[in-house]
Order: sequence, then structure tokens, then C-alpha cells
Amino acid sequence: MNLIVLFDGDFTGDGRVRLHGRRQRHVLTVHRAAVGETLRVGRLNGQLGTGRIVALNGDALEMEVTLDQAPPPALPVTLLLALPRPKSLKRVLQAVTAMGVKRIVLMNAWRVEKSFWESPVLAPEAVREQLILGLEQARDTLLPEIMLRSRFKPFVEDEVPALIRETRPLLAHPPAVQPCPRDVRGAVTLAVGPEGGFIDYEAELLQAQGFEAVSLGARILRVEQAVPTLLGRLF
Ligand code: SAH
Repeated sequence: MNLIVLFDGDFTGDGRVRLHGRRQRHVLTVHRAAVGETLRVGRLNGQLGTGRIVALNGDALEMEVTLDQAPPPALPVTLLLALPRPKSLKRVLQAVTAMGVKRIVLMNAWRVEKSFWESPVLAPEAVREQLILGLEQARDTLLPEIMLRSRFKPFVEDEVPALIRETRPLLAHPPAVQPCPRDVRGAVTLAVGPEGGFIDYEAELLQAQGFEAVSLGARILRVEQAVPTLLGRLF
């Protein structure tokens, strides 16, 4: 935890917070911090700053906080991700949040197993937990927006045109001949397929909407590795 993310409910009065549970235990047992020390804090969807510990024990952590710095800049990307299996989903959500992605569309595709849509990992509270872990990791406070789209064709035909406007739409597709560009200037919409890849029909539908198919080379990477590799190369 490189940042303690503070929620509205933590604030007890002017500039003071009182925390219990996971964050308080972490400060007690991992940071091993003491009264008088300062920790990095940030208010969810707000400013970053410092918290000076005024009380810390087995019950609670109390701090006086100063919030005066902007969170780091976001990546100018919208990620269209075929819904990964629950274990990968957790990792990907955390990783892309840490990398600064602020808009993620979890979409269906032919090779997405139906059962993935029933996973408890997709419950709003479970998704939020992964996003918060990503923010804590990267010292950011701006919660990404998550959209769930369980029907591929209507999503691509009806919503994608507006989503990709003013962006460069890229389809990460191993068979593509064109290599994934590096250091693009400007906004990107990046589509990433499921474990088995996009079927031809899906890749063609995306390309018909203006997506350029690009490849990272002959090695097929897992989604957890492909996404950070793509983002690191693009920005
Ligand atoms: N078996 C599939 C690969 C699926 S990997 C196939 O051969 O098409 C899951 C997703 O990760 C892919 O759909 C793609 O979006 C991305 N990905 C993985 N490796 C990649 C590579 N070398 N180049 C581009 N995208 C890649």
C-alpha cells in the first residue's frame, strides 16, 4: 500500500480521519508507523497529501490530513476488454488501474465463457476492491469507470462509434501484420480479446468500425501480460 485511500465516511471532522480494519492493520503491522509520523494519503476521487498520525492502536488509526496535490495524470485510453476468467479479471483490473486507465469496458465475445458473467468477482463491491488496490499501489485517487456489456454486436455497432471518436482505435490481434505502434501521441481505444482470441467475425466487425489490427509479435501472451505490455508500448 503506497497510498492510503480515504473515503468520505473516514472523515470525522475538519481535516481528521479515523480508520479501522484493513488499512489501520496495515499501518500498524506493515508500516509499523507511530504517532507523529506522516503517511501518504489521498481522498477517493480527490486530492493527494499527507496524514499525520495522532492516534494508532488496535482499534483505530487517527490522522490529521492535508490534501493539496493533484493525482497523477491518467492514460488517455479506453480499454475494451473481453471479459477474462475471474482470476485474471482481478489481476487485470488491479494492474490497469495502477497504470492509469480510467475507462474499462468489460464486454462479451464468442470465446468468453458464459459462466464468467455470473462470477462474484464482477459484483460492484468486488470490482471496486480491485480498483482501490490498484489506486493504493500507484498513488492515485481517481476511480476508473467500469462498463459491463454482455452483448457484443449491439455494443460494437451502437456504442463503439461514439466511444472511439477522437481516438485511435486499435485491436490487439496476434495474427495482425502491423506491429503495435509505440509512443502514440493522443488518445487510444484498445480492444483486447478473450483467452481464445476474437473470432474472425468479431475482429472484422471491429475493423469495420475503424479499428486497426496490431500485433505484439509471434508470442501469444496471456491477457494479464498482453494488456500491460500494450499499454507500456503505446504510452
Ligand atoms: N489464441 C488467441 C490468443 C488469445 S490471447 C489467438 O491466437 O488469437 C488473448 C488476447 O490478448 C488476444 O485476443 C489479444 O487481444 C491479446 N494478445 C495476446 N498476445 C498478443 C500478441 N502477441 N499480439 C497482439 N495481441 C495479443
